Amino acid sequence: PELWQEVPLAPPDSIFKLTAAYKADTYPKKVNLGVGAYRDDDSKPWVLPVVKKATEKLLRNEALDHEYLPILGLPEYTAAAAKLILGSDSPALSESRAVSAQTISGTGANHLGALFLTKFYRFNGAKKVYLSNPTWANHHAIFRNVGIEPVDYPYYNPDTISLDLTGLIGSLQEAPPRSVFLLHACAHNPTGVDPTEEEWDTIANVMLEKNHYAFFDCAYQGFASGDLDKDAWAVRHFVQKGVPLLVCQSFAKNAGLYGERVGALHIVSPDKDTADRVRSQLSVLQRSEISNPPSHGARLVELILNDPEMFAEWKQDIKTMSGRIISMRKELHRLLTQVHNTPGNWDHILNQIGMFSFTGLNAEQSKAMIERAHVYMTGNGRISMAGLNSHNIEYFAESLDKVVR
Ligand code: PLP
Repeated sequence: PELWQEVPLAPPDSIFKLTAAYKADTYPKKVNLGVGAYRDDDSKPWVLPVVKKATEKLLRNEALDHEYLPILGLPEYTAAAAKLILGSDSPALSESRAVSAQTISGTGANHLGALFLTKFYRFNGAKKVYLSNPTWANHHAIFRNVGIEPVDYPYYNPDTISLDLTGLIGSLQEAPPRSVFLLHACAHNPTGVDPTEEEWDTIANVMLEKNHYAFFDCAYQGFASGDLDKDAWAVRHFVQKGVPLLVCQSFAKNAGLYGERVGALHIVSPDKDTADRVRSQLSVLQRSEISNPPSHGARLVELILNDPEMFAEWKQDIKTMSGRIISMRKELHRLLTQVHNTPGNWDHILNQIGMFSFTGLNAEQSKAMIERAHVYMTGNGRISMAGLNSHNIEYFAESLDKVVR
């Protein structure tokens, strides 16, 4: 018998498939709204000016070498990254009870966090994680890979195209005590629907009552509202209230460093002594997984976070990206409601936040967008707002209008 005969052929990644179909399409007005990466007004990837500046500075530094970083990463980077998400006045930092590890971007943070939980979390019965329905598809695979079974919790109400708070709270209440709930810190992927501050507070209260664990995934800090602190509000509020939690952090989107894989995992512990033990075990896990994280991207982000001038410039770059996306939301809403008088309510386009928008289009309509209009979007009706620009938004609005009529 030959080797690997029993290996089944896996289906291609759906986004990859969509991109391939878009590339093969020769229609001149084709639009790609599948990608989860920022594009400028000419549909081009954007290297942040501050990242260019930091790169030049790194190149001039002759003291730098290619030695291994410490197992948990570049200390100046992880310390600055922790401050960025937790807030420089965080009790978790002043009490030395946050543990930070540099990871292979947000995906690696999710993986390391899941791995740590599977080894050390005192699960109440079977190992389960509650994931929002829907969520970033990779969440399911990441937890399954380490033997934690995903369970859905209601999050999005397709009838109102908004948050299903009742369903979410019900799920928190019904879950056994000490359950693990994955929460998107801001700019929920794929819906673009976030709880309000008041709703976050309600969620935190139930989590405290039930002694649940919050597994925060924060892939879009600053990218959502344009304000780094505002997008970290939920995480900081949960820390303040004492909800046990960890945070996965990514600099892929907010610094445009997708391929450099710069991320971090922060585990907030009850006290310093616990944090020291958690850190020691995280180190053991990281060692067997990747030995040491890569240095280049972490050095770039460290420079940007720790140099006040560059930090200010980065905030401007973030505003450029989030501002363009917000202006596309406004323009799309205007075109649908004032130019085309498209049937239905389109206020969700304005209310949703971040890179993605759930249009409310069903699977059939999403398919029609591809087949009739050459507009590439996922079957769940999600579009990447970053794929829209001044050159294609009118064509997109016109196509959407035709499909929903
Ligand atoms: N988590 C969510 C919700 C995401 O949308 C993404 C990227 O799309 C990630 C994590 C991780 O991305 P990366 O590994 O590129 O940082």
